[in-house]
Amino acid sequence: MTVHVVGAGVAGMVAALMLARAGHAVTLHDAAPVAGGRCRALPDGTDNGTHVLMGANRAALRFLDAIGARDGWIEPEPDGLPLFDLADGTARRIAASPRAWRDPARRPPGLSAGGVLALLGMASGITDRPVATAMAKHPALLRGFVEPLTVAALNTPVAQASSARLGQVLRRLGGAGAARLLVAREGLGPNLIAPALAALAQAGVALRLGARLRALTTAEGRAVALHIGQDSLAVAAGDAIILALPPWEAARLILGLRVPDDHAPILNLHFARPGAGPVRFVGLLGGLVQWVLVRPGGISVTVSAADAEAEEPVDSLAPRAWAEIRQAARAFALPGDWAQAPPPCRAVKERRATPRHGVGFPPVAPRLPLRNLALAGDWTWGGLPATIEAAALSGEAAAKAVARQARRPGAA
Ligand SMILES: Cc1cc2nc3c(=O)[nH]c(=O)nc-3n(C[C@H](O)[C@H](O)[C@H](O)COP(=O)(O)OP(=O)(O)OC[C@H]3O[C@@H](n4cnc5c(N)ncnc54)[C@H](O)[C@@H]3O)c2cc1C
Repeated sequence: MTVHVVGAGVAGMVAALMLARAGHAVTLHDAAPVAGGRCRALPDGTDNGTHVLMGANRAALRFLDAIGARDGWIEPEPDGLPLFDLADGTARRIAASPRAWRDPARRPPGLSAGGVLALLGMASGITDRPVATAMAKHPALLRGFVEPLTVAALNTPVAQASSARLGQVLRRLGGAGAARLLVAREGLGPNLIAPALAALAQAGVALRLGARLRALTTAEGRAVALHIGQDSLAVAAGDAIILALPPWEAARLILGLRVPDDHAPILNLHFARPGAGPVRFVGLLGGLVQWVLVRPGGISVTVSAADAEAEEPVDSLAPRAWAEIRQAARAFALPGDWAQAPPPCRAVKERRATPRHGVGFPPVAPRLPLRNLALAGDWTWGGLPATIEAAALSGEAAAKAVARQARRPGAA
């Protein structure tokens, strides 16, 4: 079988590698000049945004294993996540795993029996309401644990975020090692994209960058031609297509497809301050900065659900962020020089970083909207918020779906 995978983000790369290693002829097309999609390295080597994986992200870790990149993802804070509260200067380490909460030193602030019940209620997913409402009786736990987790995982403020969606995340944090937090030691380029491209090339995948799928011709429930750039490719009987595209592109190409249409931005600030290491990852509460990743190559700040901040110029964001980071650096004795003046800073604003995960689930897209065409992409995986894990799971599912179709006599 020949398979055209369109979209070389995580979902497309996962699908292409699986199918090529299963012996199919695979071409991977992407409109952009580089692979990686929303999880990519910029031309100067900076990550488009800090990407964090959890131990629970089995499909993402499987892909890292498959491309030989697992060792590049390290756990910077094995003793618990450092969290600095700008409101009162409190510095504590908390564990994301309920297993570790037996140790009072690593419990989230405000944890009580009632708070645990509220977390279990969200994890059950029986009702769906705003996270802030579900946690209204536990304001300290909301502020010191649930809110940073929600904003990071759902890219949505707690006043709107879906408690049932957050429950999908909470349910996964209980397993052994599930709450280990991992980051790329050097960056997405060396620790994800380069090894992925090497593995794809070795598996025989033909990569076509700068190749935008303009349109799709269908007939009798099948895709029969792809119009990519200036070319039109006929899709032979028995061949298949995977569209691993963002929702707005999938909806443009497949008429009638219902997709999430409300997206939220993520802002990243990258300070060019070389450090001596080790890699550190610190959370902040009550200010602009939500997470700080300190690597030898520089310091990266993440602001999720950044609707207001995405409109603010870097000249005003950088000094505000730097003043906050210096306080956290002092509190956690982060190594290196933390001079008062901010180092040179660039802002990367991903305006449609992920769908906004408000109350109420969008309709789940069909995996096979056409007999020989499967959909992939983080938004197609109903069991998780839009993350690398959801993208990887969707890529695996799409690869299996087209392989299964190909085995059905006369199906495609
Ligand atoms: C700043 C930021 C921080 C994030 N942080 C995290 C994190 O910490 N942890 C986590 O798990 N997730 C995080 N995410 C989410 C994660 O990046 C995404 O869930 C994941 O990368 C989505 O992968 P995908 O393959 O589904 O889609 P995409 O990465 O969007 O891939 C789609 C691809 O399709 C291509 N394309 C679009 N239109 C066409 C067309 N017509 N023809 C051909 N190609 C086309 C695009 O160029 C792109 O390469 C973050 C996202 C952002 C933006």
